[in-house]
Amino acid sequence: MYRIGIDLGGTNISAGIVGDEGRLLYKSSIPTEAELSDVQITELMAKFCLNIINNCDISEQDIESIGIGCPGVCDDKNGILVYTVNLPFRNTEIAKIFSGFISAPVHLANDANCAALGEVVCGTAKGYGNSITLTLGTGVGGGIIINGKIYTGFNHAAGEMGHITIHAGGELCGCGRKGCLEAYASATALIRESKRAFNENPDSLIRELCGGDINKINAKTPFDAKRAGDKAGTDIVDRYIQDLGEGIINYINVFQPEIILLGGGVSKEGEYLLEPLRKYVFTYTYGHDFLPRTKIECAMLGNDAGIIGAAMLD
Ligand SMILES: [Zn+2]
Repeated sequence: MYRIGIDLGGTNISAGIVGDEGRLLYKSSIPTEAELSDVQITELMAKFCLNIINNCDISEQDIESIGIGCPGVCDDKNGILVYTVNLPFRNTEIAKIFSGFISAPVHLANDANCAALGEVVCGTAKGYGNSITLTLGTGVGGGIIINGKIYTGFNHAAGEMGHITIHAGGELCGCGRKGCLEAYASATALIRESKRAFNENPDSLIRELCGGDINKINAKTPFDAKRAGDKAGTDIVDRYIQDLGEGIINYINVFQPEIILLGGGVSKEGEYLLEPLRKYVFTYTYGHDFLPRTKIECAMLGNDAGIIGAAMLD
């Protein structure tokens, strides 16, 4: 038997056929056509599943279940996509619409939660019952896995890892609150701070690295500047590591997960980011050296994590 995992994004719908132990056997994607209605986009996803089944030369009866990772809040029990940020879904009856096209049962979960589950199924968190995954991208997303299952809270909205306060009254966050982790630990925050340094420190290497064009600054720019010994770059990265560290310490003190994974663009810095981060986190974590330590590592499945995690929902 196979499973289908779908990653519903604002730009693309990616889907794959997943076999035993989360092995991704086939993957394909289509544009989301976000101008369509919620029902039409759902129908598009259902037809896409039928196409994939056809392309892989298997039959509908070979599909055990279909899972969809959605950018919003999902009520899996009732098969409803309650709300999405950038797409027109509002209390959309996904499972019911799918049943008009395909007989396999449909499961729903938040896309970041699916990615966290994917890493447990066959990524860096494999073998760990309790883990937290943080995605450091445009925003800060993630998921909490407890005893191998996604923790969603009573209203399906838990795991908004980016929206814990680390600087009360600090930078304004997209959620309307000030000082959230997302406003300090996202790639967007790194770019904001680098642009400030570009404007305030004419001698900084940041200017040179982006060829004097402030719009060419990306999240890697301050890391490159630090690597070259630049003071402004070093300040930005060191502050970033402290802020991210404060968030991670909060998660550890509350959940004591066996492992915390970092994914998303910023995690590509690898050990250059992880090593000082671990040092900071373990200096201030509750229990210090008297308790076994949470591991802090990079996620390994990239964009496939969402498809694999969605497929493994049950
Ligand atoms: Zn926030």
